[in-house]
Amino acid sequence: MSAAESHILPVYSPPEQIFERGEGCWIWDDKGEKYLDCIAGISVNAFGHAPPFLVKTLTEQAGKLWHTSNMFKIKGQEELAAKYTRDCFADVVFFTNSGTEAIEGSLKTARKYHSANGHPERIDIIGFQGSFHGRSYAAINASGTPAYLEGFGPRLPGFIQVPYGDEAALRAAISPTTAALIIEPVQGEGGVRAVPEETLRLYRKLADENGFLIIFDEVQSGAGRTGKMWAHQWSGMTPDIMAVAKGVGGGFPMGAFMATKEAAKGMVVGVHGTTFGGNPLAMAVGNAAYDELSKPAFLEHVNKVANYLSQALEGLKDRHPQLVVDVRGKGLLRGIKLTINPKEIQAKLRARKVLVGVAGDNVLRIAPPLTIKEDELRQLIDAVDAVLAAQMAEASA
Ligand SMILES: *Cc1c(COP(=O)(O)O)cnc(C)c1O
Repeated sequence: MSAAESHILPVYSPPEQIFERGEGCWIWDDKGEKYLDCIAGISVNAFGHAPPFLVKTLTEQAGKLWHTSNMFKIKGQEELAAKYTRDCFADVVFFTNSGTEAIEGSLKTARKYHSANGHPERIDIIGFQGSFHGRSYAAINASGTPAYLEGFGPRLPGFIQVPYGDEAALRAAISPTTAALIIEPVQGEGGVRAVPEETLRLYRKLADENGFLIIFDEVQSGAGRTGKMWAHQWSGMTPDIMAVAKGVGGGFPMGAFMATKEAAKGMVVGVHGTTFGGNPLAMAVGNAAYDELSKPAFLEHVNKVANYLSQALEGLKDRHPQLVVDVRGKGLLRGIKLTINPKEIQAKLRARKVLVGVAGDNVLRIAPPLTIKEDELRQLIDAVDAVLAAQMAEASA
């Protein structure tokens, strides 16, 4: 069917093929062609496609109970919240269906904290240019990409963006009406940049000195993606509120926001809610996924293959200095910054049966299943190598 006949709202422009089946890091289209998946549904399929342990958990739960809504206690919520809070700064958790909802809840929690503290004037959310926090109306206001806002009416009050990494601009933006600072510890959509650990520690200091909260958007960087459960854990500092999603359900749509007891003090009965969030299917899968992610051997594997990938990416950069400006990111969330449009390289890789993503700032994005093996990463690197070499040959012909 041509695009003209499609009944899908045309906000995406995907290639023609349709994928039908997946196993581990491999995925097959409707013509039976096999691809190496190095984008994993944008950092979602942490255990690859159709991981048997999650298929079992999901189908068992599907035969029992799907939905009751949060008007009743839901099996698995208390258990999963206990696991999340056992392993990080947070004391309380709210389950959502998506990353955007987790962001929305995080922003509401921050403003409600100040209002509960007698400072309803503290509404300003400071974010960074180039950041991405989702597509709801609050999330596009919090995101540092003006294009997402265009045509959707006036900018909401209380959202400020400062240039990425500009400490002076950040200090200048802080005021008595600052509610929170929001940042992705490793930026996803904006260009896969990892925020230096000392910068995260500086933000904590500024927040404590000026009485505002820190919100981490770990929707993309979390769930083991960087080799720790949450990317900020490399820095030793902690936020007050954190939004998570993408990988936490291993492919099942779910997310959460979590907070310290103090930061969540305004979130009392009736002030927030969700129909589907934390449903029995999500909780069954979420618990099984988290148990697997939190096995020490699992994260050891991520660090080992991430280390291999780092070295291979540095090699690519050395071999293609005219095309590769920089390699970025952390763990298995990596970017190759190119001098040319990464979409062209992405399409050529797809022709070679390797799937990768792109990100802002001319970046080719790599976010494979966390279970990927070294020989599979080698196949990725060989394909990128070949495509970049062909690109150079073409350019000089
Ligand atoms: C994907 C993403 C979101 C939005 O999550 P959805 O599940 O698409 O709503 C928010 N923040 C970051 C950093 C993301 O990568």
